Amino acid sequence: MLYYKTQDEIELIRESSLLVARTLAEVAKVIRPGITTLELDRVAEEFIRDNGAIPAFLNYNGFPNSLCISVNSQVVHGIPGKTALQDGDICSVDCGVLKNAFYGDSAFTFPVGDVDDKTLNLLRVTRDSLFKGIEQVVPGNRIGDVSAAIQQHAENSGYSVVRELVGHGIGRHLHEKPEVPNYGKRGGGMTLKEGLVIAIEPMINMGVKGVVHEKDGWTVRTADRQPSAHFEHTVAVCKGGADILSSFVFVEEAMKQNTNIVKKL
Ligand code: MG
Ligand code: MG
Repeated sequence: MLYYKTQDEIELIRESSLLVARTLAEVAKVIRPGITTLELDRVAEEFIRDNGAIPAFLNYNGFPNSLCISVNSQVVHGIPGKTALQDGDICSVDCGVLKNAFYGDSAFTFPVGDVDDKTLNLLRVTRDSLFKGIEQVVPGNRIGDVSAAIQQHAENSGYSVVRELVGHGIGRHLHEKPEVPNYGKRGGGMTLKEGLVIAIEPMINMGVKGVVHEKDGWTVRTADRQPSAHFEHTVAVCKGGADILSSFVFVEEAMKQNTNIVKKL
């Protein structure tokens, strides 16, 4: 079942997605070497609830927390815990909220302290591959055009694309049809039509594309234990092209104020 949204529904998804964006900015304000990922989760949960929303990931299929926090070689679905972040780590933070019966979903990978240039480049390329995909979000284009643009940018930079996890439609459900893979062929897949809202979320690995699942039942990690990055936006297909409903503006402003993030993306 595909759900095409009215403009009023898109505005509600925007409200949820902007709350996600501002929640990620709250994380950006406090992230530093020494803080635990559980502390970041508490900051986010409190901010989401203070803004009249529900953390979308908490209890989703039994997930125990509000944020998915994945450090270094963890790709996605990391469980917040008592381990402190260390200088030089990268930390992917994925956040979703439910407000006014609609979901928003976005993710950002933070450099923590002094991250080496090689790893920072992985972050830049992953973020840029997201925007290469978003450029293809035009009515009449295919899902495959989005997928191929992401894959091409990542692989041309020498990185690999995770296959097991994909983007998705979003709206009254956190995960709706269609699937939005980060790899594929131009001209393939369903046609994008006005009113479709999708979460595009490249997961890009420094080394091999393969991943393994940790014993905790959630965490996905790179098979070769090299770093992985993850950036995500919730995007509506509109007449003129993509309407990006989430935003990195708040996060990037907060990062400028955070002296523990010494290198800029
Ligand atoms: Mg997400
Ligand atoms: Mg998502």
